[in-house]
Amino acid sequence: MEDNHIYQYSLLNALMDGVSNTGISASELAKKGNQGLGTFAHMNGELLFLESKIYQLQASGSVREAAPTDLIPFAVTTQFSPQTTTDVHLKDKNDIDRALETFNPHAKNLFLTYRITGSFQYLKCRTVRGQEYEGQPLSELGKKQSVEEYEDVEGTIIGFRTPGNWQGFGVAGEHLHFLRGDCGAGGHVLEVRAESVRMGMAVASHVHMELPTGEDFNRAKLVTDDAGVKEVEG
Ligand SMILES: [Zn+2]
Repeated sequence: MEDNHIYQYSLLNALMDGVSNTGISASELAKKGNQGLGTFAHMNGELLFLESKIYQLQASGSVREAAPTDLIPFAVTTQFSPQTTTDVHLKDKNDIDRALETFNPHAKNLFLTYRITGSFQYLKCRTVRGQEYEGQPLSELGKKQSVEEYEDVEGTIIGFRTPGNWQGFGVAGEHLHFLRGDCGAGGHVLEVRAESVRMGMAVASHVHMELPTGEDFNRAKLVTDDAGVKEVEG
């Protein structure tokens, strides 16, 4: 992987359709850069990839390090090399967008990746609980996701943003996952507040997409459900 090239496995649309039986192995994914996010087979929890480790953020609130053979049905990664690093004050999630637009005035039309580290005053994270039956769509799982709130926690947020928060081709949209510094908890970030945290940012010039070859992917409708994505991804 070249610096700040994005690798994506499968499409968000396929995940919305419930395509999550198989995927790329955790050991293969770990070669695709130094940071990323995604989910696990049967959408069992959230994935956070940081340096050489892949973590499964579970709905129980605990975190496990992925086994090399674990299958990942959807992931976005990059070999992150920050082009700028600055201290940011986050009143809410919109301040992440503002920081990206200050870094690059054309950020709205670009693929971006970032990493935020430090002490967060408040975080609201969700974790999917896993499918109850084969092919259960993500939109349905969203209604039963576990939601956790954290106050005054140290940790790392890994994020990606696509042009115009565009999800039309099944790319990640605006997507960020959090891992507590002690690796004891984390999830998909719904809300964030921080007095001063360190934010590294980079423009990603290339996106490499790998699609599954399984029957469930071939059968997926791959329609764009913006409202459904918004509801479940926040
Ligand atoms: Zn997520």
